[in-house]
Amino acid sequence: MNLLEIKDLSRSFVTGKNKLLVLQRMNMSVKKGELLSVLGPSGCGKSTLLRLIAGFLKPDSGSISLKGKPLSGPDADRIMVFQDFNQLFPWKTVLQNVVFPLKLKKVGSSRKEREEIARRYLARVQLDEFLHFYPHQLSGGMKQRAALARALATSPEIMLMDEPFASLDGQTRSTLQEMLLKIWQESESTIIFVTHDIREALLLSDRIVVMGSSPGRVKKVMENKLTRPRDQLSRDFTEMYKEIYGLL
Ligand code: ADP
Ligand code: MG
Repeated sequence: MNLLEIKDLSRSFVTGKNKLLVLQRMNMSVKKGELLSVLGPSGCGKSTLLRLIAGFLKPDSGSISLKGKPLSGPDADRIMVFQDFNQLFPWKTVLQNVVFPLKLKKVGSSRKEREEIARRYLARVQLDEFLHFYPHQLSGGMKQRAALARALATSPEIMLMDEPFASLDGQTRSTLQEMLLKIWQESESTIIFVTHDIREALLLSDRIVVMGSSPGRVKKVMENKLTRPRDQLSRDFTEMYKEIYGLL
């Protein structure tokens, strides 16, 4: 059974007198433990899709089910990581930012235990030396690492990542992509990774859902069988890049 199943999902937005069909009859599935990319041009409905999966929005028609059960709103089993650098609580330290959702979700039995969990995840994103820093004292890349640790620490069924690295410089983006891959491989987590960057989708994921726009829909689902670690300069990589570029 697939972990997540999306069937004939449609969603539109009404603004004034206009009705905009954003997603049209989308079908896709996510397997447990996979890193799936959703790739498409800006405005094709990727964030809308993630917000539907997160339960922040309701579908007009169609269904989304997790482990065979239809979704009934937001829950701790699905956690979002955003592109925006300002997703941390500015008045909390890095450590407090990661501890806070653990407390809400009643993970761990004491403050000490929650801090230990938080420290463990912060070490994995190499922020162990910045535990007591506030967000304004961090670079963009460090903020995204903290947001990643915060999401991972609660052990969600699915991590929903909405172009988390898109605002970073190229060098930092590469570092974070590698970090994400390492964590994913170690933790067996399931990730839906939204991006508009073909290269990023090819570097990271097992499968790529290529979306078309106006209205947003699934154009093709591609298996990415490139061997890891992936080489952007290899012929196979270039071939796949060209194929997807043609689709978009
Ligand atoms: P993407 O993430 O792929 O760039 P979005 O899901 O953010 O695309 O947006 C898809 C389309 O839906 C855009 O045309 C956008 O303007 C529209 N849209 C998104 N959210 C809303 C909203 N709350 N109200 C009206 N239109 C919206
Ligand atoms: Mg978006």
